[in-house]
Amino acid sequence: MNSNQSWVVVADEPAVTGLVTTARELAPQVVAVVVGSREAADAAARAADRVVWLGEPGQVPVEAYAAAVADVVAAAAPAAVVGATSPAARALLGAVAARLGAPVLSNVQQVEAAADGAVVTHAVLGGLVEHRTGVAGVPVLAVDAGAVPADGPAVTVEEAPATPFAGVTVTQVRPRERTGGDLGSARTVVAIGRGLRAEADLAIVTALTEALGGELACSRPLAEGVDWVSKDRYIGISGQRVSPDLYLAIGISGQLQHMVGVRGAGTVVAINSDKDAPVFAQCDYGIVGDLYDVVPALTAALGGGA
Ligand SMILES: Cc1cc2nc3c(=O)[nH]c(=O)nc-3n(C[C@H](O)[C@H](O)[C@H](O)COP(=O)(O)OP(=O)(O)OC[C@H]3O[C@@H](n4cnc5c(N)ncnc54)[C@H](O)[C@@H]3O)c2cc1C
Repeated sequence: MNSNQSWVVVADEPAVTGLVTTARELAPQVVAVVVGSREAADAAARAADRVVWLGEPGQVPVEAYAAAVADVVAAAAPAAVVGATSPAARALLGAVAARLGAPVLSNVQQVEAAADGAVVTHAVLGGLVEHRTGVAGVPVLAVDAGAVPADGPAVTVEEAPATPFAGVTVTQVRPRERTGGDLGSARTVVAIGRGLRAEADLAIVTALTEALGGELACSRPLAEGVDWVSKDRYIGISGQRVSPDLYLAIGISGQLQHMVGVRGAGTVVAINSDKDAPVFAQCDYGIVGDLYDVVPALTAALGGGA
């Protein structure tokens, strides 16, 4: 085993800093193997110590490169392998793990190096429980890393075109419908929860969001229960992960399934009328109060109109 190296498997994710940081916990040198666009390879080059670009899949799904990725990573005999939790990244990690005869742990929150492998904290049962698991040998980890783009100096991208599995082609690509701007890269996110009493009252939250120049988000019940906010806007274990500088949780109780989606946030501010709401144990600043009073007051203080 090359205990100096962790490998990061990148399947077109533009934001790899969190993955590289996790990989660096387990070995000092981090090598990224990228299947995806040149932009993805260039982004990896601003975070990792070495980047191997296997090529752009084009009309072939990323998953068709699974064997090629497994070959490259297994040949390097790394100390650990890390990737994102996206479906394509998980397929690549699965192939790597099979080739290495190693287990895969998913929804990983934290890692620590151990004498013979790693100790991994990962969410199970839909985020209801966090396990700490000791992994002997090579850990292969699908990590909830948040979407922080890399901005360091770039290393050279090594081009090593690989041959994908033949016989599988992409016949159609339909971009998922999105509302508003990009949540993943937003620096300010204002999220509303079941503390909101009526859909029409969303106006007071959007006014604050606009005054802050942020993006609107929500807890799952507002997107999947009452459909007041579109489904691509809910935050949490089964929704979006965000890593803004500022996250406002308004009328949100702070259940684990929601809060794992904001682990990468810089400052978390909660507004809740219940002083015992669990969110207050997980925020940097808390305002105990009725959102119908607090939100318009904040908007007015920022010079916006409710
Ligand atoms: C497998 C699984 C996966 C899940 N995945 C997700 C996920 O990805 N994302 C997610 O969000 N949830 C998820 N959930 C649901 C999660 O467990 C919670 O039920 C949900 O997050 C609660 O949403 P909430 O905080 O908006 O509502 P509630 O828990 O009902 O909290 C509402 C809060 O609003 C406060 N409030 C009420 N009135 C006011 C007022 N006037 N002013 C201020 N505060 C007020 C209340 O005190 C309360 O704290 C999942 C659940 C399961 C089982």
